[in-house]
Amino acid sequence: MRARVEIDLGALRANVRALRARTDGAAYMAVVKADAYGHGMVRCAEAALQAGAGWVGVATPYEALELRAAGITPERARVMCWLWTPGGPWREGIEADLDMSVSAPWALAEVTEAARATGRRAKIQLKADTGLGRNGCQPADWADLVDKARAAEREGLVTVTGLWSHFACADEPGHPSIAAQLARFDEMSARAYAGGLRPEVRHMANSPAVLTLPEARFDLVRPGIAMYGLSPAPELGTPADHGLRPVMTLAAPLALVKHVPGGHGVSYGHHYVTPGPTTLGLVPLGYGDGVPRHASGAGPVLVDGKWRTVAGRIAMDQFVVDLGGEMPPEGTEAVLFGPGDRGEPGAEDWARAAGTIGYEIVTRIGGRVPRVYM
Ligand code: PLP
Repeated sequence: MRARVEIDLGALRANVRALRARTDGAAYMAVVKADAYGHGMVRCAEAALQAGAGWVGVATPYEALELRAAGITPERARVMCWLWTPGGPWREGIEADLDMSVSAPWALAEVTEAARATGRRAKIQLKADTGLGRNGCQPADWADLVDKARAAEREGLVTVTGLWSHFACADEPGHPSIAAQLARFDEMSARAYAGGLRPEVRHMANSPAVLTLPEARFDLVRPGIAMYGLSPAPELGTPADHGLRPVMTLAAPLALVKHVPGGHGVSYGHHYVTPGPTTLGLVPLGYGDGVPRHASGAGPVLVDGKWRTVAGRIAMDQFVVDLGGEMPPEGTEAVLFGPGDRGEPGAEDWARAAGTIGYEIVTRIGGRVPRVYM
């Protein structure tokens, strides 16, 4: 046995079904960027398709091309990617029949040039910045982008398959920016229709919007974190409140258990000093595996039915827990987080300990830890 990430694909499929059941027939895009938030991009995309997803969404074109190369063919799923940089693989994207997001004239110019070169129409989706202030076209520049896209459609170079946007504060129900973004999306969509575009889909909803904002569903939803069974924010309740089950478990066997006297410094910097004679357990995972160093002295671990706390600093490959005098044998399982069936902490507990969000906890778990699919 060794340190490992267990991925419960049955839970992922059940989460997709639960999310689809509450989205009134909207198409479902499984967001699997960043190696499916650490869960494994291709395996999770396949599981989501089995559970009825029709679209797969990723950030970069390189991730999208990897999905196609892995057998997620255009007959099986639409694949969309939204984070392009100048000189990107537009031709390959057209040949792979990707839905490619365009936020600015430079991208439209590059994709039309690639369409001319390949002799094929590119599928593009125009991204509106309705208030996130990140990627997407500003309202003031929208008419120009729409009109240029329509001209490229008339030339047979592109098809505008979608209009879309992304929320800034969907995880804070009632935040005034939510209504403002929805209103702006309607205005910008109206300008696109007036300019002659007839997109197949409009979409805005990430997980928090899927869970709390029925009016944001439009034709398609794009949940990520909820599909992996985590709540987007503690204020939105637990995964179980939404009928979701965490997909990832991170566990490792104790590599060493030993007695130490009181007053013994533990790990780099001696930030933990044993309060009296005790036992220490060594967990063979560290920040080199994505366990956040910020959770030093705070991260919870289930060992032998009890929650223990990281003692001292988390190092690159290992950390220590104070076992309070107990002597479980080496090889005893230390569970950092999981769905909670055995009483183990959740990724949210680690997020709290590290001052971050559950998204980052699961996404950071690195490639050195093997994934075991169940
Ligand atoms: N859509 C876009 C454009 C995203 O960048 C993301 C992730 O950040 C998602 C959807 C999914 O978001 P979430 O994981 O909150 O559901």
